[in-house]
Amino acid sequence: MFSDELKKISWSDTTSAIMSKTEADVLRALRKERLDVDDFMALVSPAAEPYLETMARLSQKYTMERFGKTMSMFIPLYITNSCTNSCVYCGFHVANKMKRTILTEAEIVNEYKAIKKLGPFENILLVTGENPAKAGVEYIARAVELAKPYFSNVKIEVMPLKAEEYKYIADCGMNGVICFQETYNRQNYNIYHPRGQKANFEWRVNGFDRMGQAGVHTIGMGVLIGLEDWRTDVTMMAHHLRYLQKHYWKTKYSVNFPRMRPSENGGFQPNVLMSDRELAQLTFAYRIFDHDVDISYSTREPAEIRDHMACLGVTTMSAESKTEPGGYFSYPQTLEQFHVSDSRTAVEVEAALKKNGREPVWKDWDNILN
Ligand code: SF4
Repeated sequence: MFSDELKKISWSDTTSAIMSKTEADVLRALRKERLDVDDFMALVSPAAEPYLETMARLSQKYTMERFGKTMSMFIPLYITNSCTNSCVYCGFHVANKMKRTILTEAEIVNEYKAIKKLGPFENILLVTGENPAKAGVEYIARAVELAKPYFSNVKIEVMPLKAEEYKYIADCGMNGVICFQETYNRQNYNIYHPRGQKANFEWRVNGFDRMGQAGVHTIGMGVLIGLEDWRTDVTMMAHHLRYLQKHYWKTKYSVNFPRMRPSENGGFQPNVLMSDRELAQLTFAYRIFDHDVDISYSTREPAEIRDHMACLGVTTMSAESKTEPGGYFSYPQTLEQFHVSDSRTAVEVEAALKKNGREPVWKDWDNILN
C-alpha cells in the first residue's frame, strides 16, 4: 500500500531537496527522455523558473506527440451535496447549515438531458459529497447505470471505497475514478480534515491501491493547491503516480492540481498561493516527467489561462460546470461547492479552443485512439 511507501519519504527533506536544486539539475532533467522523481523536483524548483520557455516548448512537443491537437471535454454533475466530513475549505462541510440535496433518479436523468443540450458531451463526472449512509454505493451505481444511455464515458468522484465496491460500480458501467488526496502532508492533513471518514489519511491515500486492485480503467489523482507547500505536495503525487504505474500498469492515469478558490464556508483563505507562472511551470513539469499522463484543468482556472495552457500540455478540460447538485436543471440556484472562474458556455469554450488551433473532442481518449 502506498501509505507504507509514503512513510519512507520525509516531507521536510523533500522540501529542502527541491529548494536546493541547481541550474545544472534543471538542465540535466531537460536533457533526459525518461525522468525520475528527482528530475521532476528540479523542474518544479525555483531553479527552473528561468527555463520556463524551454519547458513550454518541450511540454508542447510531448503533448503533440502523444495527444495531437485534441482536447478531451468533460462535464461534472454533482448528484448530492450531502456530506459527513468537515473539510475546512469546502462549502459543503457538515457543519454548514444549508439545504442538502440528494437528487432522485428522475432528477438525475433530467440533469443528463439538460447537459446534452449544452454540448455533445460524452464524458461525465458524477460527483458526490461523502455520506455513505444516505448516498452510498447503491445510489452511485444506479446513477452510473442511468448515465450510460446518455454518455459513453462515466467517471465518479466520490468517497474512497473498498476494492469490491469499485468493482461493483465498474460492472455497472463506470469507466474511471477521480479522488483528491488534497495534501500528502500527513502531519497537517487533519488540520484541514478534522472529522468524518475523510479524517482517515491512510484510508484515503490507499484508496488508489484499491482502485488499482479493482481494475479501474482510469484513475485520476489530485492535490488541492493552497493547503501546503505546493512543490512538495506535487512531488509526493509524482511519487504516488510512479508507484501506481508500477503496481497497476494496465491503468491509465490523470493528474489535477486545482488552485483553491474561495468557498462559501466563511472564507478559508489559502495558506499558499500559486502564481500563474508557477501553474504553468508545474503543468510543463508534469508533461515532461510523464509524456502520457492526462493533465486536467477544471473551470476553477480562469478562461485565459485555460486557453493558453490548452496549447502547451493540458489534455482534458471541463466546461460550463455547475458545482451545485441539480445545477443544470433541477436546482440552478443552490449553494455551490466553490466558485468557478471560467463561466463560459461549452459552445464558447469550444470556439476558443478551435480558434487556438485545438480540436475539442467530446469522447474519451479510447474512443479517439480506436
Ligand atoms: S471537500 Fe468533499 S468531503 Fe470535504 S466537505 Fe466538501 S464535499 Fe465533503
